[in-house]
Amino acid sequence: MGSIINAVCKCGYQVHDCFVGVGMDYTQSLKNPEPAICFHCSSLQIVNYNSQRPRCSTCKKEIHFYLDDSALSTSPSGEAICCSSTYLCPKCGKMDMEFNVVGVWD
Ligand SMILES: [Zn+2]
Ligand SMILES: [Zn+2]
Repeated sequence: MGSIINAVCKCGYQVHDCFVGVGMDYTQSLKNPEPAICFHCSSLQIVNYNSQRPRCSTCKKEIHFYLDDSALSTSPSGEAICCSSTYLCPKCGKMDMEFNVVGVWD
């Protein structure tokens, strides 16, 4: 079961209805979209975690998954999106962004 999340920062940056995690078709699609940050174009990206070369959909440069890098969040590295943690905002560069789960998908 995947989650639908909204990313909201205190600075006003918001990304709504991001589909993350794995759904029922995972064994076929092998898609595991997870939130990532692009420092090149200062945006939040939802990118397939299983991709060999994960890239920003906007500028095609390298992105960094929040899951992989403990410097990008207040939660320990490797944890899934957690509502009690805050994350680095791509716009203002502060640890002020939250991921709120607003629904599930499969
Ligand atoms: Zn980019
Ligand atoms: Zn911000």
